[in-house]
Amino acid sequence: MTHDSPARAWVEVNTAHLIGNLKELRRLHPELKMMPVVKANAYGHGLEAVARALDTCGIAFFGVANPGEARRLQQAGVHTRPFILGPAFPEEREEIVANGWSATVSTLEEAAQYDRLAALYQTKAHLHLCVDTGMGRAGFLPDTWEKLGEAFAPLTHLCIEGVVSHFPAADEDESFTLREIEEFEKAVSLLKQHFPLEYIHIAASAGLLNFTVPSSTMARPGLALYGISPVPTEAHLLPALRLMSRVTLIRTLPAGHGVAYGRTFITSRPTRVATVGIGYADGWPRKLSNRDVKVSVGGVLCPMLGRVTMDQIMIDVTHAPEVREGDEVELIGPHVPIEQIAEKADTIVWEILTGLGPRLPRVHIEE
Ligand SMILES: *Cc1c(COP(=O)(O)O)cnc(C)c1O
Repeated sequence: MTHDSPARAWVEVNTAHLIGNLKELRRLHPELKMMPVVKANAYGHGLEAVARALDTCGIAFFGVANPGEARRLQQAGVHTRPFILGPAFPEEREEIVANGWSATVSTLEEAAQYDRLAALYQTKAHLHLCVDTGMGRAGFLPDTWEKLGEAFAPLTHLCIEGVVSHFPAADEDESFTLREIEEFEKAVSLLKQHFPLEYIHIAASAGLLNFTVPSSTMARPGLALYGISPVPTEAHLLPALRLMSRVTLIRTLPAGHGVAYGRTFITSRPTRVATVGIGYADGWPRKLSNRDVKVSVGGVLCPMLGRVTMDQIMIDVTHAPEVREGDEVELIGPHVPIEQIAEKADTIVWEILTGLGPRLPRVHIEE
């Protein structure tokens, strides 16, 4: 006997859209290798299923946040190599070297430890030199670039296969980004004299869609892969994710009745109220309370009433008399754009996606 209840809410992911989006990004930039970014459970889309869907698409790497995610890919039988985007703790570096995963390096101390570990394993550590061109998060600062060739020369167990940076403002500040590209070009031309550098990459989705980086050979799309563009674009991207729930209960409340905690909403007329099985514990932000959010039941937009509770929300279905208990509700999808939800929650779409909770089953379809 199972203790599972039928899912009150779930995430539906169309993997065919992911593959289509990758194709579209390649059509726009046929000169670039691709590193689909699948960190944070593939932006909530389900790490293993997304990686399996893209594994045979001829990509260079999967971008992951940490060695734990790389391990999950390995255990899922994924063949594409992981690239660990963020810095690794000293105690994590052995596993990286032993498995031949690729990682970034931002300091000489890190490099020296990777070199020692690779010597121990009689292998090479695959590293991408991280250069800080403005993000202020990781990387060698510009005044050190000229000396890196010399500094790395004794570290003979390293394979410096790439150079990596990251735009801090590709969707907000064009003139800064153009100057940053010049800076990155300078780094690449200096480093190319000393290292093989097969993979030269700085652009995530916004950079890829908005800018051209002459020296780059690879891009790291995350959001765009999932079908959402962070910038106005002519690219044909299809959102891959729908956030779904179901009506659990329908009642008609009289005029003057409060709805949910704090009674922040009071009915002004007899109101047919549907209770829906999703709440902030699932990642449906409490910030959306009383922000004029509408969700879709069978294509009819229904206003959310009062505050979001932990497991349930209430919606007004007075104008949708055909709605029944058990009906499906779309909270993010073709009828309810995620951009609108993010704006009403005072946040960005990345946070909405990655906030979708582990309680939500991920249902993968291909159509
Ligand atoms: C998350 C991340 C990306 C992907 O960013 P998007 O804006 O979602 O495309 C690319 N590179 C690095 C280093 C990242 O941390």
